[in-house]
Amino acid sequence: AHLSDGSSVAARGMVNAAGPWVSQLLGRLGVNAASGVRLVKGSHIVVPRLYDGDHAYILQQPDRRIVFAIPYQDGFTEIGTTDVPVDAPEDAVIDQDEIAYLCEAANRHFTRQINPADVTSTWSGVRPLYDDGASEAKAVTRDYVLELDTNGPTLLSIFGGKITTARHLAEEALEKLSTPMGFSAYPVTRARAFPGGAIPAFPQYVAQVCATWPFLGAARAERMAHAYGSMLPDMLQDVKSAEDLGQDLGGGVSEVEARWLRTREWARSAEDVLSRRSKIGLHLSETERSAFEAAWDALA
Ligand SMILES: Cc1cc2nc3c(=O)[nH]c(=O)nc-3n(C[C@H](O)[C@H](O)[C@H](O)COP(=O)(O)OP(=O)(O)OC[C@H]3O[C@@H](n4cnc5c(N)ncnc54)[C@H](O)[C@@H]3O)c2cc1C
Repeated sequence: AHLSDGSSVAARGMVNAAGPWVSQLLGRLGVNAASGVRLVKGSHIVVPRLYDGDHAYILQQPDRRIVFAIPYQDGFTEIGTTDVPVDAPEDAVIDQDEIAYLCEAANRHFTRQINPADVTSTWSGVRPLYDDGASEAKAVTRDYVLELDTNGPTLLSIFGGKITTARHLAEEALEKLSTPMGFSAYPVTRARAFPGGAIPAFPQYVAQVCATWPFLGAARAERMAHAYGSMLPDMLQDVKSAEDLGQDLGGGVSEVEARWLRTREWARSAEDVLSRRSKIGLHLSETERSAFEAAWDALA
């Protein structure tokens, strides 16, 4: 296979886990697959906190869909999602109809009424749902299908899937690949913690982080313990004082954290850090955001 950096790799087999791009990739490989995906956009809006408490609500809608309202960061409520068929993975952008739909969905249930002007932030994703022939986007199965092609080098394509079933999917994928590729597969991750998740008791862990790096401050220590879990000692292994954290890019993100995000979590832009790897951007003013972007771009 030829990679975008000009290099090429040789392999005995390949797993096509391109998500919404799964069929496009098969097209480029010249493979005719029996399965296909339907691309269904799901969008969220974020508004100032709609209700007290740290519980979520499932809001039943007249169109028989449900919409979630979830406490979000400090002082916000997240409302989503929608189910809108789209043509391309790149169409993952919320539109005015979705914003209106989500505002109405919340207004049916909460005393505090909202309108599009209250929306502080939005995001959208495209679900690559296995095409099971259902007529309505909301009715399409959320299950996944694995398709193995052994006409040529072994190729396994993944259609659909969810984060919650990722390990199950991976086990099945290896099982399917084992015979044509000649290896034996057995599940090893079933009881293993996710990266950063090997923490027996979170409050005690936060206390330990505060005690080891007191200069982080309580709020930042808790945020970082949440975000990086048991990987945090790795990130801060050479940090013995506030100065060792390097410059503050804004929003409490130090140079050490920024570099970790770049090298370990593939953040490529300030926006990746502020809106995707974290939601710190929600709490920054326009000026602070610009300063953050400049500091990020200046990182060597
Ligand atoms: C709105 C929405 C709500 C969701 N809610 C839930 C939920 O509540 N629970 C749940 O479990 N799941 C949920 N999901 C589904 C979950 O997000 C996906 O199942 C999961 O992200 C799929 O991961 P993936 O790695 O298979 O695909 P992706 O995360 O889509 O990754 C595919 C990757 O392939 C890369 N790629 C594409 N083409 C190429 C190429 N030619 N070469 C190299 N790389 C390529 C892409 O850049 C991308 O990084 C939701 C999804 C959406 C959109």
